[in-house]
Amino acid sequence: MAYEKILVINSGSSSLKFQLFDMTTETMLCKGLVERIGTEKAHLVFTPTGKAKYEEDVEAPSHSEAIRVVCDILVDSRFGVLKDFAEVSAIGHRVLHAGEEIKQPMLVDGNVKEIIRKYSLFGPLHNPANLAGIVACEEIFKGTPNVVVLDTQFHQTMPPEAYMYAIPMKFYKEDHLRKYGFHGTSHNFVAHAAAEFLKKPYDELNVVICHLGNGSSISAVKNGKCFDTTMGVTPLAGLMMGTRSGDVDPFVVMYMARKGYTPDQIDTILNKESGFKAMNGIGSADMRDTIAAAEAGNTDAQNALKMFAHRVALYVGGYYTLIGGADAVIFTGGIGENSFEARKMIVDRLNALGCFIDEEVNLKTRGTVAVVSTPESTLPAIVIPTNEELMIARETLRVLTQA
Ligand code: ADP
Repeated sequence: MAYEKILVINSGSSSLKFQLFDMTTETMLCKGLVERIGTEKAHLVFTPTGKAKYEEDVEAPSHSEAIRVVCDILVDSRFGVLKDFAEVSAIGHRVLHAGEEIKQPMLVDGNVKEIIRKYSLFGPLHNPANLAGIVACEEIFKGTPNVVVLDTQFHQTMPPEAYMYAIPMKFYKEDHLRKYGFHGTSHNFVAHAAAEFLKKPYDELNVVICHLGNGSSISAVKNGKCFDTTMGVTPLAGLMMGTRSGDVDPFVVMYMARKGYTPDQIDTILNKESGFKAMNGIGSADMRDTIAAAEAGNTDAQNALKMFAHRVALYVGGYYTLIGGADAVIFTGGIGENSFEARKMIVDRLNALGCFIDEEVNLKTRGTVAVVSTPESTLPAIVIPTNEELMIARETLRVLTQA
């Protein structure tokens, strides 16, 4: 096979996560992270599959040096997994936003980079970092193909009735303001895994997928295509999240502005100081901390959990109706895969749809595929762990083998 080893890069503003796959068997060979890029304290964490984690401080003033660090560790004589980094036959990059201009995974060229630069407007932290990762790989892995896989891509099949905002049309036509949706790679992976699990042809699959993590979103999948999703122009919309508000009356934003908060301050409040962090009375964005506080009797934490479950159930019910009934509701992401408490609170609000929690199975399900609803439920609730990196590697391979 020509494209055997595929490196997947997920670059953030100050970090760069990577995984290397052998695509002949879809096995992960190693994973790692360079964090605090651009500071004196840049640090590498590297885990070759089946071996102990290795960590060291590194010099990484920019993404370019961080990629160099990745190359060096991949071929390190003590911990490395390759003899030569030329063995990497392609690189798949996670990219946040490309508006409506990239609907499929694509080989990187000048135009693709220009589009990513353009949509930094909607992803000011992510897009420039994604681009820096791509440029660094082009410099260092000379001649190796780079492929972009967009977070928004899976949702590009939404019909206008789902993605349009009812505001003057010029904001769509000139400014590209519409619902895009995110976590697309995860929703895509889980939708395919669900079809396999349910033994349904993919293009007949009807499911509601709840990706619940620090960032959370739900998608309605009708006949294998995304029909609607909860996030919007940016990943701020929809569900209540770790630090993000999710949906609020837009008046809240005007009110804050009139009170004197600047756009940047409002951005910080809604993206970084809201959600669980604002509501649970302990200032933590983490679900485990919230549950522990709620169990200890903290009524703010109890209320925050109810708010979260309420909003999730609201969307699941709406999407179930819009897609004409669903084969299943799927839970994934750090919370969806691991938190039996959160799943129970949500499923308890879905009884009207014929979905009831199986307490015993739910309690012991953590990070594995399992049906967590009772056998009598007419709408099954299923946990399916996501794997965004593997999906990016698969999509990268698909682009290259079709090229
Ligand atoms: P991200 O959106 O950053 O990828 P994750 O999908 O890793 O986030 O999800 C992180 C969330 O998952 C955190 O709120 C964390 O508390 C929660 N989580 C992870 N493990 C558990 C667990 N065992 N029980 C409850 N919540 C968990």
